Amino acid sequence: MSEFSSTKGVSPDSSIPHTTYDIRHTHSLIRTIALSKSYFNDGLETPVLFDINLTIEKGEFVSIMGPSGSGKSTLMHILGFLDSHTTGEFLFQGEPTGNLDEDALAKIRATRVSFVFQAFNLLPRTTVFDNVLLPLLYHPSIRTSQREERTRKAIETVGLTDRSTYLSSQLSGGQKQRVAIARALVTDPDIIFADEPTGNLDSHSGIAVMEALQALHRSGHTIILVTHELSTARHAQRIIQLKDGRIESDSREFDRVIAGTDDERLP
Ligand code: ADP
Repeated sequence: MSEFSSTKGVSPDSSIPHTTYDIRHTHSLIRTIALSKSYFNDGLETPVLFDINLTIEKGEFVSIMGPSGSGKSTLMHILGFLDSHTTGEFLFQGEPTGNLDEDALAKIRATRVSFVFQAFNLLPRTTVFDNVLLPLLYHPSIRTSQREERTRKAIETVGLTDRSTYLSSQLSGGQKQRVAIARALVTDPDIIFADEPTGNLDSHSGIAVMEALQALHRSGHTIILVTHELSTARHAQRIIQLKDGRIESDSREFDRVIAGTDDERLP
């Protein structure tokens, strides 16, 4: 059976080709080989990512860091199946992704990846509970009878059980982002992408959000955090720095910050 479709009870997907490409790395969650990305507008090519060689294992907490325009969002969109690369390879759980059709991509987006965005992207006149439940409506294999229990558990994980019946518009920014994290978590995806998740928050709320992400990582989730700030990136175990569309450094050797401890206690 294809590894790509062997986990989390998702039925095998015959549209995903099996590969024997470099067997040593078939178990890496993500692997890119000489990946590049160009945008094409009116026949004009804008190259944005160059020669990206990257391996990310299940259970890692990785920051992708770099100044504005360095290609962070573009790389996140490719790794999160929201956009396609131009040349090179992107292997997901050992399987090439270049030839996936729209149905296969839709299924992966619904089951394997989740996103937390800077702007929260919650439905404002909808309760916390229904916001978190929403992705389950599009999930092909989680049964209707499991939806409410999963939703309750995800909300509990981010400590917002007492706000379940509030409209999301009645919450603070930090609470909204924790709801977005619960929504990202509810499908039990292979990867949670967080794109500048503290960008719209005050320092205290930002710490609470980073605490929530670090707790998810401790419980086994794979997290890819995109940020332009070193102080945020240092919450991960590994920092990949992009510069002008290339990987400038990839390090696990830095002073990691544990959210809410003396590392970053506020006055
Ligand atoms: P970052 O997230 O690090 O700020 P981006 O990935 O958003 O960087 O952008 C990298 C580069 O790609 C920028 O120079 C940006 O202008 C360019 N870019 C992004 N999207 C497009 C697009 N749709 N068409 C053309 N160029 C784009």
